[in-house]
Amino acid sequence: GAVPRRIHHAFLPWAASQPDAIALADDLITLRYGELPAAVDAVAAQFSAAGVRPGDRVLLVAENAVALAVCIMALSQLDAWSATVNARLSAREIDNFLDHSGARRALYFGAVSPAAQAHAVARGAERQLWPVIGEVYLGALNTHAEPEPVFADPAQQPAVMVYTSGTTGAPKAVMLSHANLLFIGNNNRVLRKLGPGDTVYGVLPLSHVYGLSALLVASLVSGAALLLVPRFSEQALAHALAMRGITVMHGAPAMYAKLLAWSEQTGTPLLAPHLRVAQSGGAPLTASLKTDFEKAFRIVLQNGYGMTEAAPSICQTRMEAPRPDCSVGQAIPGIEVRLQGAELDEAGVGEIQVRGPNVMLGYYRAPELSAETLTADGWLRTGDLARVDADGAYHVVGRSKELIIRSGFNVYPVEVEQVLNGHPDVVQSAVVGRAVEGNEEVVAFVETAQDAKVSVDALRAYLKERLSPYKVPTQIVIMQHLPAAPTGKILKKELQRIAASGN
Ligand code: ATP
Ligand code: MG
Repeated sequence: GAVPRRIHHAFLPWAASQPDAIALADDLITLRYGELPAAVDAVAAQFSAAGVRPGDRVLLVAENAVALAVCIMALSQLDAWSATVNARLSAREIDNFLDHSGARRALYFGAVSPAAQAHAVARGAERQLWPVIGEVYLGALNTHAEPEPVFADPAQQPAVMVYTSGTTGAPKAVMLSHANLLFIGNNNRVLRKLGPGDTVYGVLPLSHVYGLSALLVASLVSGAALLLVPRFSEQALAHALAMRGITVMHGAPAMYAKLLAWSEQTGTPLLAPHLRVAQSGGAPLTASLKTDFEKAFRIVLQNGYGMTEAAPSICQTRMEAPRPDCSVGQAIPGIEVRLQGAELDEAGVGEIQVRGPNVMLGYYRAPELSAETLTADGWLRTGDLARVDADGAYHVVGRSKELIIRSGFNVYPVEVEQVLNGHPDVVQSAVVGRAVEGNEEVVAFVETAQDAKVSVDALRAYLKERLSPYKVPTQIVIMQHLPAAPTGKILKKELQRIAASGN
């Protein structure tokens, strides 16, 4: 059949060939492929009636749910842009996104955080009952905002505006085209051999690009079933793996670490009789986590690297050649990757740069930042540092911004985190720099297992045995929970602030 050029065409071949197969499910709704086109049409008609025009940005404030996925497809059909934002944001953050996006409409789903509810009410949003979706709050905002132009080539039309995780600063709004999302969806289908019969666990938020392309679009182009889960819980994940026929699972390293720690603490054995692909990404994987996971589940933990600006995949491990280490794998097929400045570095470390059909259109309303990030000949500067090995597999050593230079020596936070996470009482850790009198100190934040009695001194002794002295943190802080984004990513800028304030 014809290759889909818009995301709402992704599922059409399957609607005809396997109408009874499940496309999308959550705890309340199961939508089959044969039912999807009519559901999308009905919601598109509702958006039209609410005044949504081609080129409008529509803010979707929601957690993962079938209804959210259908809204994204319906807006695509109307040539409007989905701006998906996480329902757990504060009212102030939602305001920032509203103002910046110039969205004329905001849709708040029934199940949103109290802050988002309050926001909806304060902005005069109106309760409505929509077909397929049920209870929503529709806000009419930025009433004078102009629609963006509709592109001549529909594949290049922005489909979504998605905000970066905000790990290093304020989130940036990335414009991704239909072609961007379909390219990564298809890549994921091929690399992970997705097809009818697969059930994909969808806990990574659709408000983040990974959920949009590697979960939603990838599942729909493959004819797989996507189970949408509003928020991560160890227990719910363990139950789904054991009982809901999950064959493919995607998560941040923190999620896998929490699942394994929970299993050990509660003495609950982990069962995943159908699981054939487990994928980690979004943050560095550590050797001990990979080993523990593979021991528990008896399948390889795949790794991948990417960023919102690359829709997001850049490198992926290959199922044919399992890696014994924490490499993020080779460049995905169909793109170019280079290491800028690697020839000048003793260890062959350079900045990862990417060119290809996955690279964003640009940052919304930020031409200068876009020009800094995208070179004139189409390379995306990732700001991440890596080296490449003889197999062509990349090893990410961290962000250039997070590199700590202590007394003239380079300290890569990831290396210190790797060692810390190897300690049996450590669930996860994050290492940041602190500026002191023209130098930088190394500060480590550590989340330990519940009931663990390990002391700061014991951790320091453990590190001293395994690292050169200049890499051993000046300060180690034990915390109950490290601050994390909804994707499970540790918010390092928050920790940098704590480190700078001296405790
Ligand atoms: P912001 O750009 O707002 O500061 P962010 O960069 O964390 O936030 P994302 O686009 O969600 O926002 O994350 C991309 C970044 O995550 C990459 O640039 C890289 O630093 C890191 N990353 C992603 N995957 C991996 C991985 N497998 N190993 C190491 N780091 C990774
Ligand atoms: Mg970034």
